Parts: sequence; C-alpha cells; structure tokens
Amino acid sequence: AEVIDLKDVWVSYGNTPVLEAVDLVVEDRDFLAIIGPNGGGKSTLLKVILGLVKPDRGSVRLLGDDPKKTRKYAGYVPQYISSNLDFPISVWEVVLMGCLGHKGPFRGYNEDDRKAAYEALKVVDMLDYRDRQIGELSGGQKQRVFIARSLVTRPRLLILDEPSTGIDSKRQREFYELLNRLKSEIAILLVTHDMSALSVYVDKVACLNRRLHYHNSKELSPKDL
Ligand code: ADP
Ligand code: ADP
Repeated sequence: AEVIDLKDVWVSYGNTPVLEAVDLVVEDRDFLAIIGPNGGGKSTLLKVILGLVKPDRGSVRLLGDDPKKTRKYAGYVPQYISSNLDFPISVWEVVLMGCLGHKGPFRGYNEDDRKAAYEALKVVDMLDYRDRQIGELSGGQKQRVFIARSLVTRPRLLILDEPSTGIDSKRQREFYELLNRLKSEIAILLVTHDMSALSVYVDKVACLNRRLHYHNSKELSPKDL
C-alpha cells in the first residue's frame, strides 16, 4: 500500500475552508516537500495525515489503513525543537523517550529500546554526543537528535515540520544530506519554507494554499511560490 494516500480531502473550521480537494500520494522512498504561505493549511494537512483531524469529506489512508491505527509508523519531528527543552536532559534520554509513545504506562526501557536508540543515534551520526545535555548542542545537532528520536520506532514515514528553522546554511546542507541518506529506507514528507534546498534534494514539491499544486522540483522557480 502507499505510505500516504489522501483522496479528495476537504477540511473547514466552521465556515472557513482550509483544505479543498486535496489528493496526496506518498510512496516508499518518496521525498516530498510541501511549501506554502502561512495559513495555507500545512499543519492541518499534517494533522489529517496523522489522524488527528477528521476531514469533512474524502478518504485518508496511512499504510493502507486508518491513520489512528497506523500513525505509530510515522515518525514526527516538530517545529521549534529548542524552545521546549529548558530542562536538563541528556541526548540519550531524549532519544530513548521516542520509545514511549505507544506503549501505555511507563515500565522502563528494555534492551530493544536501548538498541533502537543506539542505532538511531548512529544513523544521524550523533553517537558520540549521547551523554551530553541536549541544551549544550547547536540547532543542527538538536535537529539530528530529534530525528533519531523519531526513528527509534522504526517508522515507514518521517514527517518534518519546518526543520531548517534555526540551522545555519552549512549545517543545512549536512542536514539535507542526512535526509537523503534516510530516504533509501523511508518516505519523507517535509514542510518547509526553505527554497534553497528544495530543488537539490527533494524529489517533488507541492505548494499548499487550500489546494495542493504539484511542481516538478527541477523546474521550480521562485515565481511558482
Ligand atoms: P510534473 O508533471 O509537473 O512533472 P508530476 O509528474 O510530479 O509533476 O505530477 C503530475 C501530476 O500527478 C500532478 O499534476 C499531480 O496532480 C499528480 N501528482 C504528482 N505527485 C503526486 C502526489 N504525490 N500525490 C498525488 N498526486 C500527485
Ligand atoms: P499553516 O500550517 O499552513 O500555517 P494551518 O493549517 O495552521 O496553516 O491553518 C490554516 C487555517 O486554518 C488558518 O487560517 C488558521 O487560522 C486556521 N486554523 C488552524 N487551526 C484551527 C482551529 N483549530 N480552529 C479554527 N481555525 C483554525
């Protein structure tokens, strides 16, 4: 089954239309970026994909099933990571916490959890930092740690919301190169304002402004946005 399959999805809040006739297909190893103006419906679309907002009309499938059942296969990296980390916690603990999501009451971590955390930190090349406090890291390093955290459940899909916020341009290149490596195993959906990276790294770009318009990223120019 497709990783994401949305057909003719409509969402409104009260009388305000937010998504209109949205069709979206993401397959294994796709790397799709969604851009668009503020208020264009990007966050709403992500919530629909994760089963947190039910559309007024249309069908939503995540790995062929109801997203409420399957959203555990989607890793999610939120926007503004640094602002909600004002307490002392190590990189290792942050990543382990990714194992908590779907297990019910906390019973401690097991050997599998620790193995998954170790592997995930290795993938993002942050193993050497595992005993550091997260607050000591740069924006780009934090980003990697949070990607590792979203990978511990071995998701089929990685959703990133404005990931390049707060990363300098040199680190951004490394960051997109990391995503490109991940792409060999996982579908990636990126919500971004970052024009510069799009054409180089992303397979497809869609612009969301209530409706979703697809562009071939290689032909994308600023006037399309
Ligand atoms: P282009 O024709 O600009 O090179 P594509 O080949 O990516 O673009 O897309 C052709 C058409 O297929 C688009 O107009 C769009 O309606 C549809 N399409 C492309 N990608 C997707 C997708 N991920 N989900 C749903 N429809 C898509
Ligand atoms: P984006 O992420 O592209 O900025 P959003 O999906 O957050 O767009 O918002 C789309 C529109 O829906 C905006 O006009 C916003 O004010 C409105 N909106 C978002 N969430 C709600 C809500 N829970 N109730 C009412 N209106 C909302």
